[in-house]
Amino acid sequence: MNLILFGPPGAGKGTQAQFLVESYKIPQISTGDMLRVAVRQQTPLGLKAQEIMQQGGLVSDEIVLGIVEERLAQDDCRSGFVLDGFPRTIPQADALAEILQRCGRSIEHVVSLEVDNEEIVKRLSGRRSCPDCGKGYHVTYDAPKRVDVCDVCGVALVQRDDDREQTVRNRLAVYEQQTAPLKEYYRSQQLLRTIPGMGPIAEVQQRITAALAG
Ligand code: ADP
Ligand code: ADP
Ligand code: ZN
Repeated sequence: MNLILFGPPGAGKGTQAQFLVESYKIPQISTGDMLRVAVRQQTPLGLKAQEIMQQGGLVSDEIVLGIVEERLAQDDCRSGFVLDGFPRTIPQADALAEILQRCGRSIEHVVSLEVDNEEIVKRLSGRRSCPDCGKGYHVTYDAPKRVDVCDVCGVALVQRDDDREQTVRNRLAVYEQQTAPLKEYYRSQQLLRTIPGMGPIAEVQQRITAALAG
């Protein structure tokens, strides 16, 4: 199963990707996670991406495509993958189609999570994640068993720098301008599966499962 999880920042892509990983036994490819690792390790690529990520802008297509192409070439992607946070621009989507075509593959479904802006702000302001395993939480909607501690690793959860309110506003504007047009792009290819992303996490998960089965 070759999937794209699509939606604005905070829509629940990372949260729902974790379920898809388990049910379809496919790896999650999160460009945001990969870029954050590069920034933390201060690799040449990370140094280039750092400032733009802090401001909530988009890292260049060239950098992002380099990471994705390398990742898709790895063995564990042969039986499928779920792309989370990629593509985010039309040139990225065109390049993805080309990369896949070269090895006889293609995208089967684009799952688009629909959430309104007010809810997004609530979700992002309470988002926390584990610095060790990357698992995501929310202080009230998806709380860890112990306050601010990862259920899996037992280490203190962190808040992302770019989840501050002003940066969130930038990210939403960038989404509307550069990323939202991809919905039409994939709709015209009959790949778009629109899923209401409001409501409890488990319900959204059921809607996705039903859409992929149907
Ligand atoms: P969210 O989960 O809130 O949507 P991500 O973790 O996907 O955020 O992305 C965090 C940041 O990483 C983005 O604001 C952007 O700067 C950068 N980034 C991630 N994916 C891409 C991409 N496909 N193209 C350009 N920049 C990206
Ligand atoms: P994205 O990857 O699209 O940026 P996340 O999966 O990180 O979004 O979710 C953003 C925040 O909202 C996280 O704190 C997560 O726990 C929470 N969240 C995700 N789905 C839901 C939901 N259906 N209801 C309430 N909170 C949610
Ligand atoms: Zn953890």
